[in-house]
Amino acid sequence: MTDALEGGCACGRLRYRLASKPMFVHCCHCRDCQRQTGSAFVINALIETDRVEILSGETEAVQVPTDSGRPHVICRCAACHVAAWSHYGGVQRLSFVRVGALDEPSALPPDVHIYTRSKLPWVALPADVPAVEAYYDSKTLWPAESLARRKEIFG
Ligand SMILES: [Zn+2]
Ligand SMILES: [Zn+2]
Repeated sequence: MTDALEGGCACGRLRYRLASKPMFVHCCHCRDCQRQTGSAFVINALIETDRVEILSGETEAVQVPTDSGRPHVICRCAACHVAAWSHYGGVQRLSFVRVGALDEPSALPPDVHIYTRSKLPWVALPADVPAVEAYYDSKTLWPAESLARRKEIFG
């Protein structure tokens, strides 16, 4: 399983491995994510930063403006600048890893679709995956094991 959870940038210098499965996977349809990716949504795997092992290369942290004003730092390959993961709200211990940059993006399907209020109209969502207009309370959707891991980060 963990073999599937390696990823990298476009130039190949930055390579990383997720040491375990993430806590939860978001498919985010917000305007920030659409703007930053140039696409309809982003897929983020939420995982402890110390479980993101850099195998080679370096990242460069880029602070980006957001609609909410909440801090958002994107860690990009220092050479080709492809986005690898993000930290939101100044929480360095939590990483939002871009699932599309993993070697096997199909390994981590979304656990929830968020900010569907700005979802592009031609994107059809699966009926069996929770979807919310904006954000949600993790206690309502996350499995107990993931909530316990989240508690380690936020106390
Ligand atoms: Zn978003
Ligand atoms: Zn690169």
